Amino acid sequence: MIKEFTNHDLKELNSFHVEQKCLKLITFERGEELDQIFCTENRPQKWYVLGGGNNILFTQDYDGALIHPVGQGIEVVAEDEQSVTINAQAGVEWDDMVAWCVEHNLWGAENLSLIPGSVGASPVQNIGAYGAEAKDIISRVHLFSTLDYQHKTLTKEECRFAYRESIFKQELKGKVIITSVDFTLSKVAKPNLHYGDVCQRVEELGGATLNNIREAICSIRNEKLPDTSKMGNAGSFFKNPIVAKERAEELKQQHENMPVYPTADPTKAKLAAGWLIDKAGMKGYRTEKVGVHDRQALVLVNHGRACGRDVIELSEQVQQRVWECFGIRIEPEVNIL
Ligand SMILES: Cc1cc2nc3c(=O)[nH]c(=O)nc-3n(C[C@H](O)[C@H](O)[C@H](O)COP(=O)(O)OP(=O)(O)OC[C@H]3O[C@@H](n4cnc5c(N)ncnc54)[C@H](O)[C@@H]3O)c2cc1C
Repeated sequence: MIKEFTNHDLKELNSFHVEQKCLKLITFERGEELDQIFCTENRPQKWYVLGGGNNILFTQDYDGALIHPVGQGIEVVAEDEQSVTINAQAGVEWDDMVAWCVEHNLWGAENLSLIPGSVGASPVQNIGAYGAEAKDIISRVHLFSTLDYQHKTLTKEECRFAYRESIFKQELKGKVIITSVDFTLSKVAKPNLHYGDVCQRVEELGGATLNNIREAICSIRNEKLPDTSKMGNAGSFFKNPIVAKERAEELKQQHENMPVYPTADPTKAKLAAGWLIDKAGMKGYRTEKVGVHDRQALVLVNHGRACGRDVIELSEQVQQRVWECFGIRIEPEVNIL
């Protein structure tokens, strides 16, 4: 069913909890309902998809329609000896989908436990954590295109997934609404324990079962990341910068402990934005309303009653300090509206 709200308060619909409004909030359950919203003369002229609002910073009231999928439901659509393919509606909470897979003894989603957000948003930035990415389990993405008002299905290859990237952040940005996603999970145990202290935590819990891996990841995340219900934030505010390999080597000579990661392009290297912010002296920095988290330099937080502009001003200060210290420009990962 479609529901429409006017002048809707967004405070509980964005994880920064900034106090902005939208002209219209339109919620829908099933993909077909989008025909009723868009295949009419009264279709919204300005619109944006709002999932759980965990990767969006509102800097002003939104003077268009926010399209908000709320459809729930997970069903098995294919199965063979080795794997099961499920279809999850865009409005399903990502972590509920992960919990469903773990309960049904299906492998592949467990390392992505507790990432906040909706299933519909997961392909957009190809969410990832602890050595796994959504692209490892996504097989198809079902969507509605406002280019021709048709419902379509993209294969995994057509989604052009890369590190925190996909076609939905490039050519199809602002042109499609993802209505559901197919995930292919393995019936065969495939523990992925190579990242950080996951292996040790899993051993402490008694070995590599699906439940133990999920529990280990949830406890690591709870220790490291601020709870958005207590302190507004959007997880990592900045992307890890990718620079020319020579530049990374030059910096490494000046800063021996600086983390440098290889990329798919052998002429480039990835630096850790959190490390750069920390070394630039901004970790734990705060003003009255906003700050850089004191344990996670990549996370900007709302200490209460901040507006989007307060967060933007802080992010610019952080960018400036990193630029002055390292000559590196760090860019926001969060969508700024
Ligand atoms: C505490 C915290 C920790 C986090 N940790 C991680 C992490 O470990 N790894 C990681 O990758 N991310 C992480 N994030 C970021 C966030 O969880 C992801 O970006 C997530 O996918 C956002 O989901 P959402 O439903 O809230 O999307 P939103 O914030 O509502 O939207 C994000 C973007 O996707 C678009 N979008 C959303 N739904 C749809 C749809 N159905 N169709 C088309 N476009 C859509 C929006 O228009 C917007 O551009 C974290 C965030 C927080 C607050």
